[in-house]
Amino acid sequence: MSTNEFILKLAERNRKPDSELLHRILEAAMTPEEAQFLAETPASTADLAAKFNMDEKAVEEKMLGLARRGLLVRSRRGLRYPGALGTLHDNILASAPEYIPPGIGKLWIALYDSGWWEEIANELTTLGAAVLRTILPLKTAPPDVQLLPCESIDAIIEAHKDLISVRNCCCRVGEQMVENTACHHPIFTCTQFGGRAEYDLFRGGGRKVSADEAMAISVKATDAGLVPTVTNMSPMEALEFICYCCGDACLVLKPTIRAGNVLQALAPSRFLPKVDNDKCNGCQECVPRCFFGAIEMKELPGYDTKKAVIDLDKCVGCALCLNICGPEAVTMELVRPPESIPETIAGPSAIVH
Ligand code: SF4
Ligand code: SF4
Repeated sequence: MSTNEFILKLAERNRKPDSELLHRILEAAMTPEEAQFLAETPASTADLAAKFNMDEKAVEEKMLGLARRGLLVRSRRGLRYPGALGTLHDNILASAPEYIPPGIGKLWIALYDSGWWEEIANELTTLGAAVLRTILPLKTAPPDVQLLPCESIDAIIEAHKDLISVRNCCCRVGEQMVENTACHHPIFTCTQFGGRAEYDLFRGGGRKVSADEAMAISVKATDAGLVPTVTNMSPMEALEFICYCCGDACLVLKPTIRAGNVLQALAPSRFLPKVDNDKCNGCQECVPRCFFGAIEMKELPGYDTKKAVIDLDKCVGCALCLNICGPEAVTMELVRPPESIPETIAGPSAIVH
């Protein structure tokens, strides 16, 4: 247990005062003096200057430095230490590489495995609506279907082309600090728009990219087997990012897949896959590609080789099986109306980084 009273105070704000792992994370992320400073936030610059016997300009610079490292976030009462543990996790690991404490990913994963995963899964699945929504990779929609703007990667990128940044995925950065991790997916994928892009650029974690570059990153991410996701709302202005998620690291997918209720956190696309048994050669390439365990190879009457059979109750319609299928045995079919995408959601979209 930490003996630093301010580390303990911060851990209390994260609602884990007795977690030794969280104490170690905080001790890795900040000095004892910084912990004392953070424990006083939110507070006015003048109050902090008086409290720490500093001039106001020095306080402002200190706050900007801590904000750059993700240890202060905006609130109605000014910059404050992030009380939500998920925000703290995402903020630290989405920092510029030089600000990420070495080895902190392993501590986060240990905390996750110690039971935090269950808390995340519960929180994400009791909001009344899924926070994320699956969208199709480029060029996987049926040729006769015109995608809605809010489900089309090209339309979303085009609508936000004035300011796009891409940064490393905070979840995979942490996961890939662990030896023998199952996650080997690309990490430079997290595509942010507008204010979110500005925030990442301010912090130095993001790089400004053109719409063409964002599209190229999208193709690379989905070819590598990542699931494109957005906030589960239809207005274009609500779509502030495109995440490329995986079941090995994503703090939305991983815990909810483990808890068996991923569809309460990740809404499916409007599409479902269909396998043409005559074209399926039984190669099994699609089976490990599906993070949702929706594909099984089965013997079917009239065929000598096993065929891919999809459990549509488990499927999120991500089309990654279509993407990897050499013989083009998989096609996507439109199965849900436009109204299936909510205009707003009850849960806070900010729950997702
Ligand atoms: S990748 Fe295509 S051909 Fe191979 S098992 Fe899956 S559906 Fe069949
Ligand atoms: S079966 Fe295919 S479309 Fe459905 S979740 Fe798995 S990879 Fe995605």
